[in-house]
Amino acid sequence: MIAIAPPLRLRLDSDALIANWRWLAGQGGAAACGAAIKADGYGLGARWVMERLAAAGCRDFFVATWAEAAALMPLPQGISVSVLHGVGAADMVAARLLPARPVLNSVEQVQRWRDSGEGRPCDVMVDTGMNRLGLRVEEVMGGALDGLAIDILLSHLASADEDCGQNAAQLASFRSLRETIRARRYSLANSAGICLGADYAFDLTRPGIALYGGTPRREAQGHIRQVVYPETRVLQLREVRAGESVGYGATWTASTDTRVAVTNMGYADGYLRCHAGSGGATWRGQSLPLIGRVSMDLTAFDASSTEGLREDDWLAIEYDLPTRAAASGLSQYELLTGLGSRFGRGWT
Ligand SMILES: *Cc1c(COP(=O)(O)O)cnc(C)c1O
Repeated sequence: MIAIAPPLRLRLDSDALIANWRWLAGQGGAAACGAAIKADGYGLGARWVMERLAAAGCRDFFVATWAEAAALMPLPQGISVSVLHGVGAADMVAARLLPARPVLNSVEQVQRWRDSGEGRPCDVMVDTGMNRLGLRVEEVMGGALDGLAIDILLSHLASADEDCGQNAAQLASFRSLRETIRARRYSLANSAGICLGADYAFDLTRPGIALYGGTPRREAQGHIRQVVYPETRVLQLREVRAGESVGYGATWTASTDTRVAVTNMGYADGYLRCHAGSGGATWRGQSLPLIGRVSMDLTAFDASSTEGLREDDWLAIEYDLPTRAAASGLSQYELLTGLGSRFGRGWT
């Protein structure tokens, strides 16, 4: 095999990742701060994120599936991994073999774990109002977990990014669960939940998006640093004359003669068409607005204001998550997890 350099680059900032984790850890008071690294670390690369955060002192990691847990092996010393989807019938082989805990989500999963004879501790998700995954409070209060060795008892907030009564209601429900159900640790808050205050932190918090540069609530503004910087290469510079149009559907027409940089990134890379009209790039501090429609593997930018830009140069895509989310209509989560495999991921 010959080695071919990736056509696109994701520059990932280790210092920013760790600074974000430390800020989130600080907001949780005495609680430990874990990390959600499902969906391949929100697209950054789960193993790399785990290694960096483990070196900074993070001990508890959350993935969605057993395949994601397997991809983290071998684990660094002292690291705990929880699998949020729990154990379906097809998962028991992986659950027995891998040093990770299932987060049991239903009475059926609890029974499956009991039947397997695994004496090892498990985690349990209890639903306090989201109606996504988790045992119902009544089931738990009715004894469904009796005798189980529970490491982390979890619940998940449905509306932590908003100011609404559901947060306090879920907090109250989780507090009363803690009075009744014995577990080694209790965990409720994701990134937005951490911003609601230390009351929500319990023993362990589980931030995801804010680690990677997302701002889940206004309390985090000015504290969370950008981690992910996509870069695209100029394939062609062209002079477009006044009156000519650019791209599919001819949605952009030059009002004056314009220098256009056609770059090698498109919606197949997760840079979706909804960036049209507001997206842009920068080169040596100069800005290049996106023009026309985004194609599958190509995007055009107005390079009129760039002095000295050449073909093969790299442009930095504007990718501040809160800004791009507000302008594109995508969530900060979609902006990260959509970034495709043509990006080479490199940490600085
Ligand atoms: C994804 C997830 C998290 C992290 O959520 P963010 O909003 O990204 O901070 C925490 N807990 C559970 C159960 C999750 O599924």
